[in-house]
Amino acid sequence: MKTNAFPYAFFSGKVVPIEKASVSIMTNALQYGTGIFGGIRGYYNKNGSFLSIFRLSDHYRRFLNSINIIGVSIDFSHRELVDLTINLAKKNKPLTDAYFRPFAYASSLNLSPNLNSDSKFAFGLYMIPLGEYLPVDKGLSVMVSSWRRISDNAIPARAKVTGAYINSALARKEANDRGFDEAIFLTDDGHVSEGSAENLFIIRDGILTTPPKTDDILEGITRRTVLQLAKDNHIPVEERKIDRTELYIADEAFFSGTGVQVSWISKIDGRKIGHGKKGKVSSLLQDLFFKIVRGDEPKYSKWCTKLKM
Ligand code: PMP
Repeated sequence: MKTNAFPYAFFSGKVVPIEKASVSIMTNALQYGTGIFGGIRGYYNKNGSFLSIFRLSDHYRRFLNSINIIGVSIDFSHRELVDLTINLAKKNKPLTDAYFRPFAYASSLNLSPNLNSDSKFAFGLYMIPLGEYLPVDKGLSVMVSSWRRISDNAIPARAKVTGAYINSALARKEANDRGFDEAIFLTDDGHVSEGSAENLFIIRDGILTTPPKTDDILEGITRRTVLQLAKDNHIPVEERKIDRTELYIADEAFFSGTGVQVSWISKIDGRKIGHGKKGKVSSLLQDLFFKIVRGDEPKYSKWCTKLKM
């Protein structure tokens, strides 16, 4: 098995070489998508003296909330998850920016997707090097997907459930097949929800606007970060329902997410957003975001777990 992962993973309760961190083809999670995952970034600071893991504690809070939503459990507390992640980072000693992928899953080999008999999920964690997920500075060209976002009463988008990502994969495939960088989902009732793996912001008349938590979004840690930075910089903010046509007349638009970071959007459904250039508000928030995640903004150091490598 060839992989670009860092050499060690946490699997079956201990640190093992990544080649040993594998499961049977019969694994319930593989068959039915009965898993919960997370995605966390570690950034090198400017002079390379430490790795800064961004909002580690908040990511594991959401991870445990997701586990709670689907009504299962794992053997690790929040504190233990944070500690074992720090220990794995120290063991792998990455020399580049790194991405952490925690994963809780139904590990039994039972035939049916039964969360009662499989209520104790196994836990694993691995790390890979990660640069840009989508280009942060090109100006993304995106489309409104013909696929609708999963709804809270079908598969809760608020929980980061592995099986739910077939919804994302379908939208992303459609967008890429048609030459777009990414897709934007509408909810079942036709309001703007989010991207396939990122939250969405628009700026209209100086107001930073994003869909509410109740419009079938994943409650992004980066979304929460952007909202806080906007408030700290006296940018008016609204969390409210957004119509599709508001996208076309927005002055600026950008995605937020651990993978995508803060990436501005230049076109939606072929219509130029604003002047088709990166706008003032997007630039301000993007610049600040990148300074903070690299651990170079003391005011926000509470969000950064800094590890000397
Ligand atoms: N929405 C979806 C569907 C996602 O998969 C992600 C990535 N985790 C996000 C939004 C952004 O969330 P975060 O900022 O916590 O990475």
